[in-house]
Amino acid sequence: MKNFQQVDDNGYYGQFGGAYIPEVLYKTVENLKQQYLPIIQSESFLQEFHQLLSDYVGRPSPLYHARRMSEKYGCKLYLKREDLNHTGAHKINNAIGQVLLAKRMGKTRIIAETGAGQHGVATATVCALMNLPCRVYMGALDVQRQHVNVERMRMLGAEVFPVESGNKTLKDATNEAIRDWCCHPKDTFYIIGSTVGPHPYPDMVARLQSVISAEIKWQLLEKEGRNWPDYLMACVGGGSNAAGAMFHYLNDERVRLVLAEAGGLGVDTPQTAASMQIGTVGILHGSRIKVMQTEDGQIVEPYSISAGLDYPGAGPIHCNLYETGRAQVVPVNDDEALQAAFELTRLEGIIPALESSHALALLPKMHFRKDDIVVLNLSGRGDKDLETYLSHKEEIDYGKI
Ligand SMILES: *Cc1c(COP(=O)(O)O)cnc(C)c1O
Repeated sequence: MKNFQQVDDNGYYGQFGGAYIPEVLYKTVENLKQQYLPIIQSESFLQEFHQLLSDYVGRPSPLYHARRMSEKYGCKLYLKREDLNHTGAHKINNAIGQVLLAKRMGKTRIIAETGAGQHGVATATVCALMNLPCRVYMGALDVQRQHVNVERMRMLGAEVFPVESGNKTLKDATNEAIRDWCCHPKDTFYIIGSTVGPHPYPDMVARLQSVISAEIKWQLLEKEGRNWPDYLMACVGGGSNAAGAMFHYLNDERVRLVLAEAGGLGVDTPQTAASMQIGTVGILHGSRIKVMQTEDGQIVEPYSISAGLDYPGAGPIHCNLYETGRAQVVPVNDDEALQAAFELTRLEGIIPALESSHALALLPKMHFRKDDIVVLNLSGRGDKDLETYLSHKEEIDYGKI
């Protein structure tokens, strides 16, 4: 059987991955490649990482048996409550891990890029905690659209750098961050917020987030007397929350993996972010993945109601899971995600992030057996999305809830 956890020596998962980087970064990335595993597997790292995850983030996050949702969908549904983490989502797990790694590698300056601002906020948070200077690149259009997160980052002491080139969104911010990294490779650590980017980032991020599936294993054993679910579900933007929730189950074929990507207004319209369904193989962010692009290789601007899923590609791990059939990937449209958000709110008293609502919207598409154990990764909370929810509340069909 294929090993879906393991990246090969050149940084590939099947045909996806690799490290397509400018020559000037070769030594820096090679150095990271040599050092990341020995450091993140060392006792001193693990001690500090887990201490912070417990006392600062509030881990372990609960595995919550959602009784009313279970009844509605005819299964035993557990929600992995990443929404309860400090800063409101799973991204903080990775930000803490990479900052601790940067410190151990002697780096004195942190850069990051952000689209919706969630990864920027997580990075700025940890940099405040660790007293490290932090610059966050963000498309000028996103700076306008995500003003509250910009203010959060500034309050935390980070410098937010608006990028005026291109479409002024995430891709342009990424280019600018890579340019900065090229100029300061010695002292600067580039924190990537998802399982994307050149090798070793996808593997590194997946491992740092794998605390999620490590917890699911012992929590299920405690609650169900067995440590695996029948189904594991998550949403995919770049793929980090899904990779974290799946990591320890990737090679366990008893566990069916079901992933939601953002359909936007529909995969057959130009307004979509369903890159695994409609993308073609190309290079984005230093990695060979499925990308939404024109025939001559121009990136197509993605669209989703959810800023965190609005990415024109998906990480190499996920592209490989999709291509090999190990994971089922289902597009979820804006209206389905909105309906799912209001449903969880009314049935369980939990307002989910719009991203996580895409995973929730998978539930009505499934055919469960009554005794199926389903774990759904609730990647974040919905406070940040309240305005979007309110502006669409007339469209919700309360009769279906
Ligand atoms: C950023 C974000 C996502 C999407 O990113 P992944 O790397 O695919 O997990 C999903 N959920 C929330 C709450 C987010 O903030």
